[in-house]
Amino acid sequence: MATKKRQFIKKRQDYISWDEYFMGIALLSAMRSKDPNTQTGACIVDKKNKIVGIGYNGFPIGCSDDKFPWTNKGNNPLKTKYFYVCHAELNAILNSHGHDLNGCRIYTFLIPCNECAKAIIQSGIKEIIYLSELAAMYQKNKNTPTVLAALKMFKSAGVKMRKMRARGKITIAYKE
Ligand code: ZN
Repeated sequence: MATKKRQFIKKRQDYISWDEYFMGIALLSAMRSKDPNTQTGACIVDKKNKIVGIGYNGFPIGCSDDKFPWTNKGNNPLKTKYFYVCHAELNAILNSHGHDLNGCRIYTFLIPCNECAKAIIQSGIKEIIYLSELAAMYQKNKNTPTVLAALKMFKSAGVKMRKMRARGKITIAYKE
């Protein structure tokens, strides 16, 4: 009886990398944001490539998306979003359910602002992977005070920063 030679099947080659996977999750999270101007997301990952926290920018729980202001313009800070919005990075830290974040890395769309930088450093996160050099708060460039302060703190605290090389787009399509 002739034995059929078992064909050796190789693994797929076009699977996405860990970086693309986690950044993709950060970008998908950003799509949950109600902010009409800036949608950001963040994903915290531990040394074993396990996701331990996800967040996007939004108002704190109990602060209505319909009652608090979304505008980024105006002289009265109480009537703009800045005093109220919790950034994606901070939300990801707060959503980590008590995980030890020491040695973790965080994927963010933008370079974190100085406020998130403090929380990132204090939580023990040691690496930031970002996609864009636009400033987190002002969306202008990385030479804004908030980003310069963040970069200064990251350098002093030994938090590594790495810009992710985006390969293109990932399309998520699903149907029944
Ligand atoms: Zn921030």
